[in-house]
Amino acid sequence: MRPFTVLIGIVLGSAASWLALASLTTAGAGSFLGQAKWRPRRGGARTRPPWPACVSLAVMLGACAAHKGPPPSTDIDETGFRDAVRVLASDDFEGRKPGTRGEDKTVAFLTAEFRKLGLKPGNGDNYVQQVPLVEIRAGDDATLSVAGPGGARPLRFGKEMVIWTKRVAPAARLQQSELVFVGYGIVAPEYDWNDYAQVDVRGKTVLVLDNDPGYGSNDPTLFRGNATTYYGRWAYKFEEAARQGAAGVLLIHDIRATGFGWNVVTSSWTGAQLDRATTDDNAGRAAIEGWISNEAGRALFTQAGLAYEALSAAAARPGFKAVAMGVKVDAEVHNSIRRLSSANVIALLPGGQRKHEYVLYTAHWDHLDRDSSGVIFNGAVDNATGVAGLLMLAQSFGRTRPPPDRSIVFIAFTAEESGLLGSAYYVENPVFSLRQTAGVLNLDGLHIGGRTRDVVLFGAGNSELEEYVRAAALLQGRETRPEFHPEQGIYFRSDQFNFARHGVPAIYAKAGIDDSARGPAWGQAQLDDYLAHRYRQPSDKYSEDWDVRGAIDDLALYYTVGDRLARTRRFPRWYPNSDFSASRSHGREATGD
Ligand SMILES: [Zn+2]
Repeated sequence: MRPFTVLIGIVLGSAASWLALASLTTAGAGSFLGQAKWRPRRGGARTRPPWPACVSLAVMLGACAAHKGPPPSTDIDETGFRDAVRVLASDDFEGRKPGTRGEDKTVAFLTAEFRKLGLKPGNGDNYVQQVPLVEIRAGDDATLSVAGPGGARPLRFGKEMVIWTKRVAPAARLQQSELVFVGYGIVAPEYDWNDYAQVDVRGKTVLVLDNDPGYGSNDPTLFRGNATTYYGRWAYKFEEAARQGAAGVLLIHDIRATGFGWNVVTSSWTGAQLDRATTDDNAGRAAIEGWISNEAGRALFTQAGLAYEALSAAAARPGFKAVAMGVKVDAEVHNSIRRLSSANVIALLPGGQRKHEYVLYTAHWDHLDRDSSGVIFNGAVDNATGVAGLLMLAQSFGRTRPPPDRSIVFIAFTAEESGLLGSAYYVENPVFSLRQTAGVLNLDGLHIGGRTRDVVLFGAGNSELEEYVRAAALLQGRETRPEFHPEQGIYFRSDQFNFARHGVPAIYAKAGIDDSARGPAWGQAQLDDYLAHRYRQPSDKYSEDWDVRGAIDDLALYYTVGDRLARTRRFPRWYPNSDFSASRSHGREATGD
């Protein structure tokens, strides 16, 4: 052996023992964060990186790594990211609607990519978990009219109302169903609130305000003040009305509460609608559900001789009583029905030490098909970016040496756009024990407007997992902040929510608006422009002009969080005042980092 080689051997040996020591004393080696190549220990103290000896000798000897060749980079691959977005958001994928050719192509693509990256099938020997769904297409001939002392007033489908039924039946109708204003339509014992306390709505139609009384009153002592709660979600309101026996549920659209305009209601809730396939074919749901526009909602109060402003204000105060409006509703929808099986795509990177504990990365692959004239909703930002990010994270973890202790699971969910259906199916039929799932990191709609100084933590204040995000953001020189519009309840609107409600700490975080080069006003204008002109519209297309550095930063941050989480023994806990703290205690005490 030549002296040169011996010396290299000593140097490498010394680096290796640093690595071994580091993996005992910190979360482990192999992380990266843009330029920052070493993580602080939890608590912030910096640990000496493993390579200084190598680096200084490298100056004398030439590149010491050249001896073996460097390991493949675990950096997030921007080229690969763009390539995947380009494919997923192409017209060839036809808008990625579950149950279409677009799904077949998407699932085939994801399966092939995961296999190419060397990941194992996540569901036994299959990359696919079948998700039974039913598609109900209500015809455009849906009618709704409200009759009062002054006669009947029909509401125009698409313009003033969008109605449907979740019942798996060829038709559904309301006949002379009394209309009752139930305020926010909430039964929440923990907030000492019951909008249905003194009213029997069986067979009747309830008229409901969006969001919750904390939002409506802006009173921080009611619910969670302006930040919306579980009870502010539209899905909850439809479910609660059905539990109360209502035959119909009409929700008044509020652009500030939802964060989207009426155009999004018409593009999202018309045409073929997907739902979970249930044993009772949704017979327990109200016969008719729907949105009515804000103007049409106010007009109903006028028609009934009631004051919208006064009653909606009263609905946000304790002691509100539901109001029979003295008008009656007729409505009818005709459906075509199709049963189908869709797919969650699941890939597994087995852990090096604790294979039966899991860290999950998730992103929904589905989008919105075509509009009635055949124009494709490419869903480039939403959510080709998230799925491409999932693939790039899988690539980086596949290259990580040594592999993380816990297994890393990558799931591309179906039917998120239809009400988080793929993730709902997964949490009720988990492939990997939810109790042994340390945390979930969800990707939805990555940032394409350049680097930002801020990272928005949606639903902040829920679990210790957020502390991992904070620490990783700091290493990037970025700061986490709560969401700008807590009234919109974004945390409840993507797949992380289904894990949270089943007790698994779940994160949804991404670049905010504080653009590194151009500041927050520019960033806000970009976000507003996206929400007004591209969100859930055919114009959400890929462009080579995208500046994806912010997305790459976010993926690097997610990598660090997941890597850290996969090397600790801890199971992050819910904060005691979290809405989800009762959903499950992990039952696992901390055993040290
Ligand atoms: Zn999305």
